[in-house]
Order: sequence, then C-alpha cells, then structure tokens
Amino acid sequence: MRGSSSGKKLTPVMRQYEEAKAAHPDAILFFRMGDFYEMFREDAVISARLLDITLTSRNKGNPDEEPMAGVPHHAAAGYVARLLAFGHKVAICEQMADPATVKGIVPRQVVRVITPGLVTDTEQLDARANHYLVAVDNESGNAERGIALLDLSTGELSAGTISDLASLLAELARCDPREVLVGGGLDPDVKKGAGLAAPRAVLREDEPLDDGDVAATIDASVAEPIAAEAASTLPLAARRAAARALRFAHKCTPGSPLPVRRIAPYDPTGTMRIDETAQVHLELVRGADGSRKGTLLETVDATVTPAGARLLRRRLLAPLLDVASIRRRLDEVQAFVENPRARGELREALGRVGDLERLSVRAVLREATPKDLGALRDGLLAAPAAVAATRSIVDTAGGLGAELGLSERSPQRSTSETRELFGAEVDTLPELAAKLAAALVDRPPALAREGGFVREEYDAELATQRRLARGGAEEMTKLEAELREKTGAGSLRIRFTRVFGWYIEVTKTHLGKVPPDFRRKQTVAGGERFTSDRLDELADGLENAESRALARETDIFEGLVRTVAENAERIRKLARTLASWDVAAALADVAHRQDYVRPVIDMGDALVIESGRHPVVERLAAAGRFVPNDTALDLGGERLWLLTGPNMAGKSTLMRQVALITILAQAGSFVPAQAARIGLVDRVLSRVGASDNVARGESTFMVEMRETATILRDATRRSLVILDEIGRGTSTYDGLAIAWAVAEHLYDAVGCRAMFATHYHELTELAQHGPGVANWSVSAREHGGDVVFLHKLVKGPASRSYGVAVARLAGVPEPVLARAKAILSTLEAGAPLPSGKHATMRGRTRQGSVQLDLFAKAKPDTDAAAPVLETLRAVEVERLTPLDALTFVARLKSLL
Ligand code: ADP
Repeated sequence: MRGSSSGKKLTPVMRQYEEAKAAHPDAILFFRMGDFYEMFREDAVISARLLDITLTSRNKGNPDEEPMAGVPHHAAAGYVARLLAFGHKVAICEQMADPATVKGIVPRQVVRVITPGLVTDTEQLDARANHYLVAVDNESGNAERGIALLDLSTGELSAGTISDLASLLAELARCDPREVLVGGGLDPDVKKGAGLAAPRAVLREDEPLDDGDVAATIDASVAEPIAAEAASTLPLAARRAAARALRFAHKCTPGSPLPVRRIAPYDPTGTMRIDETAQVHLELVRGADGSRKGTLLETVDATVTPAGARLLRRRLLAPLLDVASIRRRLDEVQAFVENPRARGELREALGRVGDLERLSVRAVLREATPKDLGALRDGLLAAPAAVAATRSIVDTAGGLGAELGLSERSPQRSTSETRELFGAEVDTLPELAAKLAAALVDRPPALAREGGFVREEYDAELATQRRLARGGAEEMTKLEAELREKTGAGSLRIRFTRVFGWYIEVTKTHLGKVPPDFRRKQTVAGGERFTSDRLDELADGLENAESRALARETDIFEGLVRTVAENAERIRKLARTLASWDVAAALADVAHRQDYVRPVIDMGDALVIESGRHPVVERLAAAGRFVPNDTALDLGGERLWLLTGPNMAGKSTLMRQVALITILAQAGSFVPAQAARIGLVDRVLSRVGASDNVARGESTFMVEMRETATILRDATRRSLVILDEIGRGTSTYDGLAIAWAVAEHLYDAVGCRAMFATHYHELTELAQHGPGVANWSVSAREHGGDVVFLHKLVKGPASRSYGVAVARLAGVPEPVLARAKAILSTLEAGAPLPSGKHATMRGRTRQGSVQLDLFAKAKPDTDAAAPVLETLRAVEVERLTPLDALTFVARLKSLL
C-alpha cells in the first residue's frame, strides 16, 4: 500500500491519514480524531519536542507500533502558533461530518494549511501591523525581480518590479514579512540578504511557474477575476510574483476562494527610499531591541483603529515623492488640527469601529465566528457617526487658516477644496448593519457550535423551536412532580446528562414504589435509572426542538457570513476611508499635543528647519529640557555640514532629527519644529554609530564600509545623507582618510545635502574644499575644567579641548589628561606630533594629508626634553593628588 510505513494493511483511518499527509508532505498534519488533533510518525516526534507534549505510540507493542502525539482541539491555536514560530507549516485535517450521524468512517479533509506568512487568527496577528507573505520572482534572467506582497488577513495584494538587490532588501526590511517565497532557485544573494533584511521570515523555494499559466493561476485563486486592467499593465515579472503568492495561498486555503480583489501596482520608486540600515538607525518602527519602544512610530501613532495604525506604519516607511499628494495629506491633517471638535467626535466614533478590514476577510475565508460578526456589526453601526464628524468639517469650511510656512503662505482653502478632501459619498452599508443588528444578540459568543447568538425575534422558525424547547423543559418539570406524586417516591428525579440523555432516577429506599411501566436503564451506586414512554416522548420532542433551533441558528449564521463575504469589498472600501481619516486625525492630535507645525514641501533645494526637535528624544527629555536647533542645508548654499563636538554633545541626535523631520513631512505629518521647508528628498541614507551588525558576524569596519559603499552608490542629488563617525572601525589615519574621501565624493560627485558628524578634527579643514562645505558644532561649555553640554548648534568647528574635558569628567587620571593636553597643543600649533618612546603617530603635511606611522622609532636624545617640558607646562598642579604626583613623575621619566 502506498506510503505505508509498515507494509501491512492499513486501517481505513490510517489510509485517510496517509492520503492527507501525501498531499501536504512538508506540513505537520493535525489529524482530527474526536476531541483531539493527533500527529503521527515524524510529525509526532517533531511536535513532541517543540511543543513539550507527550510522545506516545499507536498500536503499542505491535510490530506496526508508531509514534503519536496529540493536542486537545480547543487548545490547538496556541500549539499551531508555536510550530509556526519555529518555521513549520501546519495542515489542519478536520472531520467533515458529525461522527454520530455517519455510518462507518467519518470523512476527513485538510481544510487549511497555516504557514508563518498566512495567518488569519486574530490572536496570532499584530493588530497594528500588516502580516506579509512576500513572493520574489527572479526567473527573468536579469537583475530585475518581480515582487508581490500579500497580506491574507486584509486581502491586500500588491506587485511590482525591483531593479537591484539593495532596493529589494530595503523593501523586505520595510514590510518585515514572515515568509518569503523565492522562485527560480534560491539566488544566494537574495538568500543571504533576505535573512538579514527580514529576520523574522521563513525563506521557501517555490515550485516552477510557466509564463503561460500566470493569468490562469491568478484567476483560479480568487473569488472573482482580479481587476483585469491593473493586472495586465503590470510587468510580467510582477505578475509572476503575484501568481506565486496567490498560488501558494490558494493551496493553503483549499476550501474557500481568496479574499483578494485587485493587484495594486507596487512601485517602490514612487516613494522615498529609506535604506534597511537607515530604517534601523533611525528607529522608525522598530527599536534596537526589536520592539516599538522609543520609535518614531510609537511617538506619532495616536490612531484608534487597527487599520489606521497599519496605514500609518506603512506611510512612515514609505514617505511620498509627489508634492501634490503630500500637500493633500497635510491638508487633511490641518483640517483636523483646525477642527478640534470634529477631531474629537471622529476619534470617539472610530474607537468603536474595530478592525472592519480583517473581520470582512475572515468572513470571506469562512473563518468568522459569531463574535466576529458582532464586532463587525458594532463597527458598521459606528461608521455613520465617523462620517458625520468628518462631514462637519466641510460644513464649517471657508474659514480655514493659511498654511503655516517659513515664508510661503498658501491661499486659504476654499469650501470646495475641503469638500474634495472630505465630501465624497461614503458607503456605510446601512442595510448590512441593520441586518446584523437585528439578527445578533448583544454579545455573541466566540463559538458557533453551541448556538445562542441569534435573536429569537429575528426568525419565526427559530422562535417556534425555542418555544418548543422551553415548553419541553417545563413539561419535564411537570412530569417529575406528577410521577413523584403518583408513586409516592419522594426522591424521584428527572435528570439529563450528555451521555445518557434523559432519565428518571430513584434511590434505593424508594425502589419498591417504581411502577411497572418504568423500564430500567442503568444501575448506579445510590439507586436505579429508568425511562418510560412518556419520558421518551418528551425527551424526543425537546431534543428535536433544541437541535432544530441550533440547526436554524447555524443556517442563519452561515447566511450572515455569506452576506458579509459578498459585501467584503464594500466593507473594505469603508475601512480604508476610515483608516485614512484615523491617520489624519491622529497626526492632528499629535501635532496639537506636541506642538508640531505644518511643513512647506516643494521641489526647491532647501531643507530648512527652524527650532527643530527630535520627536522621540524630546519626549524622553525632562519637560522643557530639550534644546531646539535651527538647521539649514541647501543645494545652492551650504549643502555639506561637518558637525563636530564632544561625545554626548548631541551630534547624532541632531542629524537624526533632520532625517526624522524630513520623513515625517513627506509621509504627510506635521513636524516638531517652529517652521520647516523641505525641498523634496528622494532617499534618506544613513550610517550612524558603531555598528550593531557585529552580531551578524562581520567585522565592524567591514559592515561600516559596506554601508558606506551603498550610500555612495545610491545617493542622488536629491538625497539626504547622514554619516556619523565613519572610519571609526579602523586605525585612526585609515579612518580619517576614508572619511575625508567619502565627504569629498558626496560633495563633488553626488552634490547632495549631507550631514557628517566626525570626531576627526582634521576633517574640519575640508571647509576649504568648497563654498558649500560648512563647519558646525554642537556646543558644550568648559566650566572649571568640566563640561556642560548645551546641545546648542553653533557655527564653526568645535574646540579640541572638549575631548580632554570629557575625559576628565569620565575620571581619567590627571597625569594622563596633562599628557593629552600637551599633545593637543602641539597638534594645534601644526607641529609634528611630540614623540616619546611609545609615540604612535607622527607626521602631518600642510594640506592635511596624513601618514600612518605606527611605532615610530624614538627620536635622538636632543628632542627628548621637549615632550617633558610640554607635559609639565600642561599639568594643573592643584588638581594632583599625592598619588597622581608620583605617577606623574614616573610618567615624565618615561618620556626621557
Ligand atoms: P553625540 O552624538 O554627540 O555623542 P548624542 O546625540 O548621542 O550625542 O546625544 C547625547 C545625549 O544628549 C542624548 O542621550 C540626548 O538625550 C541628549 N541630547 C542630545 N541633543 C539634545 C538636545 N537638543 N536637547 C536636550 N538633550 C539632548
């Protein structure tokens, strides 16, 4: 027999098992047997280990004994989630009929394959983020790859092409998929890159796909043919990727069509590219620890609906490049800033809307529960209030304020413009809302199985059966009283259990009074259980009424689910509208609370921010302690800023602040500043801080150089580049040389706006390189030898001496500080470095070019006194402790 492990004849059930398993060999098969999902063989062994459940055997002691493990069906979701977390697929094989009503073996069928990327269970989804399966198609033979993003839980599918690996990885980092399907063999670059860019994803090699089958595959997977015009205008590679995603998803939901209705064109070049590293460094949606804590998203996400939160997240990761669209989003935010009342009413209504998008998808997949329908009803019922709140903005329009800009004043928006923003008809599906409201009880249960969620008044048949059931129960009570009276057996009871059904119980003491028409059913410890014709008749009626009521309810429920599924597209359209309002009102709320301002966006060369603040750091700083700064980069003026200042002065905060404000602005948000003008930025590229990538097994320097190389290759004139301390990972002069060359290249060859923070003081001389290079520093004040950080930006390079002051602050002993000061003053005088026996650096030409001279030989004795004298002059005697003094003398001696 096929697949039989023992070669023996299989039982019919095991034959069913083998068939199901053969259809899904790469999944762990959850095989429903009564109240359990059983796993066999290899699956049992794996599951027992990963799920910490007991491994037992089927047919123990027999030659065909084999491993088996099981989980209770009602607790399955948690176990499935754990297996998915380990990257496994799980196939759910259900009993397709009630074993009580079937003669012989119960039919079984795999109804759903759950994979890490295709999750629809609410418990396993993050309500505030999309859950993507990404398909990459790289069969075209050239570098251009097709990419498709499918969120099964919302029914969204988009597809497009990507021209190079770096962009692909940026996209993967952006959408943070849980599963990546790669067609055409695993390209090693994709494999390696995807592992880093999408660390939470399982990578799968997909089966081959014929070009000729693409359209048919797409259509076969979805309920109705996908909007043809959009699909056909996509490049073949994109359609192939979409077909892959759909084919994979369809195989996983064999019982129902997919909730996908269109393929949205996905054009990463239409949005600001934020490198994978920049996404990490800027902590846009994920912090260093992987959570939302301390991220830009956490700071500005005041949305009140899950769909709104998802939309805002997507927008922050994909700011726009089109001035008109950005202004439109800003107009929406401004409308809600200026109408606090409408904003409050909208947000209050939206708070009751819930997740219409995902609920409707659950209906399409036939996974909706009565509770889901209840939530959908509540959401639909709340929608008209949200519409009314927004509409009130149109009604009061005309008196809206002007765009708050640096200098540009946009004309007041007219009523017609406001109507264009918010005036469109919104379909709130009143008839569906009314139907659900009429049909469902106030708080429907999570399980359909036991009924009790349809209002009796909703359906005459249901009302009749329920009445009969109630009547039957009353009859039972009556019968019990009657029998007790007739027989005189005071202990006589009529009872019900699931296993035995209805029975009459009489205790031992009264057994003598049992009439002859009672038939014995069972003997129990305290007495006997009987039945009678009358009891059977009543019990039948009651049971019939109950099961008819339940059947009726199930019918009604299925009808409702079907109606919802039929209206899914309308519901999703409503959900999208509400989500975009939610985002606008939330951003307005943040703007109001945090005192943000509307930025001016144009195609100009400037990136000017007045009194800008870092949105996240300002909230963490004590109230009023954050120091705002003005920054002005300009393609026609100062376009490369060299930023110096001691450690902890605030250099990196300042640079991130400029990047975050730019991203917020182009995502359509107000920004933390007094005024801002953003000449459009096409990419934000950054390299910040000593790398955390070391954990990935590459040397710091290698990582740094790889990231720098990407920046140099990808930056365009419109990009914003932020470089922090590059060259740190190597020996000083190497690093300086590289930093210098990178800065020159950015200035000369790319010509973009850039900020460059450096601890190489030598770099400040680069200001002579061209008129657009400027020195700025974040100030600190030396006070009695200590440093006070002012966090204030000032023109010109920082003084060198802060480093020494910071070292003192950190507790470096005085003799070492004295020596450092001595070296410093020699450097500042432009003289060769003082060299002692252990000198490590020497030589520096006028042009600032440098030579590396490690372990230079000691100079002749004639020079030997110089460093001693320097060091002696620099020491602050009053700061020396006796021990310091001793060390100091020893140190002086060593210099001779
Ligand atoms: P650097 O890059 O110069 O070493 P950071 O940007 O890391 O310095 O800033 C050091 C600390 O100073 C940060 O933890 C931040 O809290 C604080 N800080 C930075 N800028 C400001 C500011 N403008 N106002 C108040 N505190 C600031």
